[in-house]
Amino acid sequence: MSDPILFIADLHLDPSRPAVTETFLRFLEEEATDAGALYILGDLFEAWVGDDAVSGDEPEIEAMAELSQAGTPLFIMHGNRDFLLGEAFAEMTGATLLPDPSVTRVHGERVLITHGDSLCLGDPEYVAFRAMVRDPEWQRRFLSLPLDERIRQARHARAQSMARTGTLDPEIMDVAPAAVHQAMRDHGVQWLIHGHTHRPAVHRLQLGEKEGARFVLGDWFEQGSVLRCLPDTWTLERWDHPVTLARSPQSGSVEPGPTQPR
Ligand code: MN
Repeated sequence: MSDPILFIADLHLDPSRPAVTETFLRFLEEEATDAGALYILGDLFEAWVGDDAVSGDEPEIEAMAELSQAGTPLFIMHGNRDFLLGEAFAEMTGATLLPDPSVTRVHGERVLITHGDSLCLGDPEYVAFRAMVRDPEWQRRFLSLPLDERIRQARHARAQSMARTGTLDPEIMDVAPAAVHQAMRDHGVQWLIHGHTHRPAVHRLQLGEKEGARFVLGDWFEQGSVLRCLPDTWTLERWDHPVTLARSPQSGSVEPGPTQPR
């Protein structure tokens, strides 16, 4: 049997949510080691102000390095939060950074993969912001600032964005159906995998004569979300770790065992 190809996105790893990092580390150890490849389609990190902000001995970076050294190919795409992940990060983890969008082969099928924010055209202000921060010249200037200044600016931008998106209609922050069809037509594919919207689902699509599907990966705030592609079945799953309940010998009541991250 072929090894599964795994797709995840939107972990938004951040020191303020250690349980998510813990879940990701378990996922790498328990699932990804046996995979044919692991694709992380953006927003692995809540924020990324430059590769020089990490030392390389962070547990999640070491775990990704171990995974790729053990022979599981690791592919990472930028999201709208961690679009500054660079070559030094790729070197540290053994990951290959993929352009957004990319076409890859999954068990013989051509599949379009993207973070997904470029398909969300309902918010012109965001479209303009995206074009600005993806400009190599803007990135070069930002990365040349001292680290503490980059951290300060990133916090400020995040606070502004949260204040603004809170006022937007949820429809505006979903993908534009016309953009989805256009992108799939342009790349000649029947299958699309993306994240970003945090609305996990499998949407069946009719593309001319052919049937296709759009797989939307969920975020990792409450539990993991993974698309597991076997040769014949592609399944969007929640990924969690079992919670063990142990009987207390004193009271006879059931109480939680060692805390399990969700
Ligand atoms: Mn995103």
